[in-house]
Amino acid sequence: MARYTGPVCRICRRYGEKLMLKGDKCVTKCTLDKRAQPPGSQQAGRRRKLSDRALQLREKQKARYTYGVLEKQFVQYYKDAVRLPGVTGQNLVRALEMRLDNVVLRMGFADSLAQARQIVRHGHFMLNGRKTDVPSVATKVGDVIGWVPTSKNSEYYKFAQENMKSKAFAAWVNVDTAAMTGRIMAPPEVAAMPTKFDPAIIVEYYSR
Ligand code: SF4
Repeated sequence: MARYTGPVCRICRRYGEKLMLKGDKCVTKCTLDKRAQPPGSQQAGRRRKLSDRALQLREKQKARYTYGVLEKQFVQYYKDAVRLPGVTGQNLVRALEMRLDNVVLRMGFADSLAQARQIVRHGHFMLNGRKTDVPSVATKVGDVIGWVPTSKNSEYYKFAQENMKSKAFAAWVNVDTAAMTGRIMAPPEVAAMPTKFDPAIIVEYYSR
């Protein structure tokens, strides 16, 4: 299945939940407040009762859309999470949180995951001093993310620097707003994280 590139608000309408897929924009103006019914004229105004299996699938899809991950990649994250010690669902979310694009978002360098992915792809970031343009790169505790020196002349950099003043950062990162760098201080505390999906139900989905 290819990565979804259509209107993201349709996804929230499909699941009847605010998944915050547009990042900060979702806080000020949300389509779901005006159009809560599922997309498509046939389904408009009604929601079917879902089977247990459909509910599990739904949680998995919500997680996939939240992190912008393809099914094949998601299955690999799940398999890796099973092999690690600890709670599988938490291992899964931790690995997704530690993707470079998500870390860039959590450090406040972007307003949404889509924007974070784009600026990573455009080669604006360095991981531990080395330029990297792969959004899925797995980061680890102690890693430092900074901007490529030439990117500091870009319009986006100036916008991001100004934008940072009003940002709240994830508790597990330390951001130097003057230098526009961030360090991962600890693994994400998944149990305390307000996720839009239930990781335990995703594990049930793949365990069958
Ligand atoms: Fe979802 Fe954000 Fe669109 Fe609201 S504005 S429907 S939360 S993507």
